[in-house]
Amino acid sequence: MNLFEGLEQFGLKAQEMSNLFEDEKKNVTSVDGNKEAAEEIPTEDAFLLEKGIRCAVCDKGFKTKMIKNGRIKRLEPDADLRPRFQYIDTLKYDVSSCPNCGYTAMNRYFDHLSSVQVKLIKEQICANFKPTGKEEPAVYDYDTAIGRYKLALYTTMVKKGKTSEKAYTCLKIAWLYRGKAENLDAKDQANAAAIKECKTQEEMFYAQAYEGFMKAVSSEMFPMCGMDQNTVDYILAYMSAHFKRYDVASKCIANILQSPSAQNKTKERARDLKEKIIAEIKKGK
Ligand SMILES: [Zn+2]
Repeated sequence: MNLFEGLEQFGLKAQEMSNLFEDEKKNVTSVDGNKEAAEEIPTEDAFLLEKGIRCAVCDKGFKTKMIKNGRIKRLEPDADLRPRFQYIDTLKYDVSSCPNCGYTAMNRYFDHLSSVQVKLIKEQICANFKPTGKEEPAVYDYDTAIGRYKLALYTTMVKKGKTSEKAYTCLKIAWLYRGKAENLDAKDQANAAAIKECKTQEEMFYAQAYEGFMKAVSSEMFPMCGMDQNTVDYILAYMSAHFKRYDVASKCIANILQSPSAQNKTKERARDLKEKIIAEIKKGK
């Protein structure tokens, strides 16, 4: 398994890595994809703006795409809280990548680097980074977005970032593969192999995210990646059920149902999940 397949295009060689959360040392990669074009439906660029930011590593300014938050309409999330919006998959745009030196991170982490981390990134990323030479597209297809996230994941390993940051990046990559698969017409037989590959990749990154979050909750404080404990408990409950770890799922659900700070909506979701798990267990007997 190579989570970082495709990073060669950035001049970065990702060595084989078996355990993302082993602590220290690791790697990354990426590519490009498909465009949705439909009459009457606004394209994603209608919801994007270019914002100038300064690189926290090389100090050069560059433009990055941001979401016009006032313009997007939130839809009901997936059962594992993957966010959904009308006409745009905002997840694609949550990474900033310096075109000069290669430093890449999810936006919430981009400016937060210690001097030691800057040094590590300069030595292991900037020294080898080569720009792809491709022109910056107006919108990102899924492969482009996934490539940027893999570069962010690799950078997180290089800078010895928190377990939760690695886990969250893996979760978002899994969600992007889900989005990519949804975007392919399942009725067209020509897409069958590509959809299957998306599922495989989604599962692989989902498993990494699960392992990482399980580790993070025992070693880090909340909020985690901007999420409160109830939200992380819910995501972990869902993922535990997905991986048939029903004991862990039940514990997480109990935490939520007993939490005085959990919102009604979260408790409702937790109860629904509990029902589903009970049904699954009965079916398996
Ligand atoms: Zn830079």
